[in-house]
Amino acid sequence: MNKKLALHWQILIGMAAGVLFALLFTNFSWGPQLVRDWIKPFGTIFINCLKLIAVPLILASLIKGVSDLKDISKLSEMGTRTIVTFILTTVLAVSIGLGLVNILKPGNAISEETRMELLSSYKDDASKRIDMAIAQEESGPLQALIDIVPDNIFYAASYNTSMLQVIFFAILFGIALILIPKKSSKPVKKFFDGFNDVILKIIDLIMATAPYGVFALLAALVVESPSVDLFSALALYAITILIGLLCMLGVYAAIVWVFTRKSPSFFFKGIAPAQLLAFSTSSSAATLPVTMERVEEHLHVPKEVASFVLPIGATINMDGTSLYQAVAAVFIAQAFGMELSLATQLGIIATATLASIGSAAVPGAGMVMLVIVLAQAGIPEAGLALIFAIDRPLDMCRTVINVSGDAAVSMMVASKIKIPKTEEIL
Ligand code: ASP
Repeated sequence: MNKKLALHWQILIGMAAGVLFALLFTNFSWGPQLVRDWIKPFGTIFINCLKLIAVPLILASLIKGVSDLKDISKLSEMGTRTIVTFILTTVLAVSIGLGLVNILKPGNAISEETRMELLSSYKDDASKRIDMAIAQEESGPLQALIDIVPDNIFYAASYNTSMLQVIFFAILFGIALILIPKKSSKPVKKFFDGFNDVILKIIDLIMATAPYGVFALLAALVVESPSVDLFSALALYAITILIGLLCMLGVYAAIVWVFTRKSPSFFFKGIAPAQLLAFSTSSSAATLPVTMERVEEHLHVPKEVASFVLPIGATINMDGTSLYQAVAAVFIAQAFGMELSLATQLGIIATATLASIGSAAVPGAGMVMLVIVLAQAGIPEAGLALIFAIDRPLDMCRTVINVSGDAAVSMMVASKIKIPKTEEIL
């Protein structure tokens, strides 16, 4: 009997092997260089392959998904449900984060001495990121809205972080396909059906290399991560975030159970490879192809729903990021000895929700957008330097939650929307 090891086990083994390999080789003076020169590039190639497929995937599956809905009212019903649920789960995530950080008060554990030390040793490394963050803050309040509408679709498709623009174009294209006569729409839809199948096959091929890709990514991460000392200094802060993120997993399991009666193990088993990939790549965008494949094939969400909810979710629904931003903001305030009023904390709910929506689905984006939350609450931006050291491991964890949230919401939306059969469409 040919029993192949499940993909998530293969990926887990790849991750563990990557960490062990790097730990072993850091003992030799030439080890880190070996990993950087000969192992890391394979991780980069793997991520590039995933990113490469993201834009064609969104175009093919969203155009197909939207046009298969047949009528505009179904689309707006699905759109409303999706956006409302995304916002509600994000607000819940921020509230859980705020509750936890107020109870555990991780920032109070930081001594004046440690803070000064951290600030000075990480000033240089962090300053680049902080500069980027401050630049981000300078755009107007409606900038996020403007950014959704591309002025050139080819530019949008080739510019890394403008996935919302591609989504906007694909939805518009899908709507137009519904509105034109069947005689003209039929061949176009047939083309996108076939195109979609090709893209899904490419994803299969890329995923066959995932265990090796994550091996390289994790090995490079271990070799390049900052000292263990700093990890322990900020442990309580990290634990606060991790408890919050775990709570969110519980929330998703509950959503799935309430709306679909599917067990938590069904949900987590189905989505596990996407979660592991989110952890390894720290990018919801890079994980999107796999999230879509898992949600459609293993969580049995109809293509029409998955191809609508997931690309939008990967871009705007970031529960892990919003929770992290709330905890990080209050943590920095606590570290600086600031008392935050109730009104300020309520303001953090609003800004962290918006900042997470505006965060790009790429590594470190949540920290860049954190500056908006800090500025709004009057918390010193210099505090970013405090949390910079452990941002990457937390980014890996919050990306897992971002991806899981999208999957849970897509199951919930699917339970509420009746999709017309394909024969009814053609
Ligand atoms: N890396 C996260 C994501 O891609 C965003 C963040 O930095 O929080 O979902």
